[in-house]
Amino acid sequence: MSIEKLKKIIGQNDNIVFFGGAGVSTESNIPDFRSENGLYESIKNVRYAPETMLSHSFFMSHTEEFYDFYKNKMIYKEALPNAAHIALAELEGLGKVKAVITQNIDGLHQMAGSKKVLELHGSIKRNYCMDCGKSFDLDYVVDSKAIVPVCDRCGGLIKPDVVLYEEPLDMDVINMAVNYISEADVMIVGGTSLVVYPAANLVNYYRGNKLILINKSSTPFDSRANLVINDSIGKVLKGVL
Ligand SMILES: [Zn+2]
Repeated sequence: MSIEKLKKIIGQNDNIVFFGGAGVSTESNIPDFRSENGLYESIKNVRYAPETMLSHSFFMSHTEEFYDFYKNKMIYKEALPNAAHIALAELEGLGKVKAVITQNIDGLHQMAGSKKVLELHGSIKRNYCMDCGKSFDLDYVVDSKAIVPVCDRCGGLIKPDVVLYEEPLDMDVINMAVNYISEADVMIVGGTSLVVYPAANLVNYYRGNKLILINKSSTPFDSRANLVINDSIGKVLKGVL
């Protein structure tokens, strides 16, 4: 019933923005950073908290420990797009979805074929030399013999283009996301409980009357939504197509 309603809304509108959280990636078997069975639980006995290990100051002061953690816990190189990624790419191809805004850093939307992807927290797929700016792909970082990858041009330290704790979000990306959201006729929010900044804040820019929340559990925005579907994001979006 809810999927029928969603199907109708998508059928009637061509200016749809999708905003997704960790739940979109968990269906590709990438653990959610904060969920009960996620990364937090698996590493709670280590010396540092994940927020510490993923902070800018830790990256600068404990680079080897950072990369050891990052390569083992943040990179899922074999992960593939799931039904949600594929459906969103198809909906973009049909002229329905104008932009995908994501909090995930795995690059799976692009792998599925989405063109307009706004990555609020950056991407593991992009890496750059902090000294000369040269770009490197994920393979270069993963295949580097040393734990800490260094630039093959100048020997400088390579940093992932991922927003670490203590680092600001990219204002250009935020502004583009706000533009898409404030102009959208339909906003579909999926796989996020909408409790963490900037997720909750971005939804406030939506001005339309077709806010759709697809999440396995309830969110603080349920009462403001026009349609709430508590189910798997992949299953729901696949059902729409
Ligand atoms: Zn360099």
